[in-house]
Amino acid sequence: MSVLGIDIGGTFIKFCGKEKNEIKTGKISTGNDINKVISELEKIMKNFQPDVLGIGVAGLYDKKTGKLTHSPNIKFLEGLPLKRLLEERFNIPVIIENDASAAAFGEYCYGAGKNSKILVCFTLGTGLGGGLVINGNLISGVSGSAMEIGHTTIDIEGWHCHCGRKGCLESYVSSYGLERMYFMLTDKKLSSTEIITLANEGNTEAMKAIEEFSKYLSTGLMNVIHTFNPDVVVIGGGIPQHYPAVISLAVSSLKNKAFSLPFRDCQIKKAELGEFSGAFGAMALAERLIDESS
Ligand SMILES: [Zn+2]
Repeated sequence: MSVLGIDIGGTFIKFCGKEKNEIKTGKISTGNDINKVISELEKIMKNFQPDVLGIGVAGLYDKKTGKLTHSPNIKFLEGLPLKRLLEERFNIPVIIENDASAAAFGEYCYGAGKNSKILVCFTLGTGLGGGLVINGNLISGVSGSAMEIGHTTIDIEGWHCHCGRKGCLESYVSSYGLERMYFMLTDKKLSSTEIITLANEGNTEAMKAIEEFSKYLSTGLMNVIHTFNPDVVVIGGGIPQHYPAVISLAVSSLKNKAFSLPFRDCQIKKAELGEFSGAFGAMALAERLIDESS
């Protein structure tokens, strides 16, 4: 039996499949309509000829209806019966999860979360996604929307979040949160990528913005550590990938504020699968589906 995992994001479709027991990954542009997505998927499917397809998709995926109900970065997929569409088109079983949940499962099966008992995963990019794996089981909730850690409130009168609420963790801990912190320090508008490049060159203000950012990240970490008492928290996404010191900064701040008992037993690690955590996770979900049905 062969499996394929696909991570559908706003900018890229990333895939991960096995060819002669060798894992292959790749990415292509998502495009801006469903037909483009399907035609790109057709090409990948031809290569791998999977028996089961796993999908991670950015947004709120409703497990009961098989539709993506809310996806600010892939608007054209909103409301589409994605599961039915893909199953009819490719004539194989399709399993779909939110992309951050898929990323957590990928890190559990193939990355930094291997052998953990309680794994929490943060995916830190444009937004902030979360995932949870307990004793090898992905916990994505009855509807599929668990672990929206980015949209838990840390300040009821705080900054505006892209979701429309105020003071969400994501409004601080995301690329746009970092951009805002840098702007408040310097009055200059730079992208998070530019800020990280500057910080890596030793620019004091950029480093200061990231230090500020790491304090909010540590509050997010504290909240999940106090809630789940995990043995591993994995942090993935562009920011920690290109500026890994953000993790040690957050851990030192966390040490001063979290309960010492759950802090003692928790390892905070950088994601190992880089930008492919979600695709690996989608592949692992397809593998799990085969195991369960055999
Ligand atoms: Zn929000």
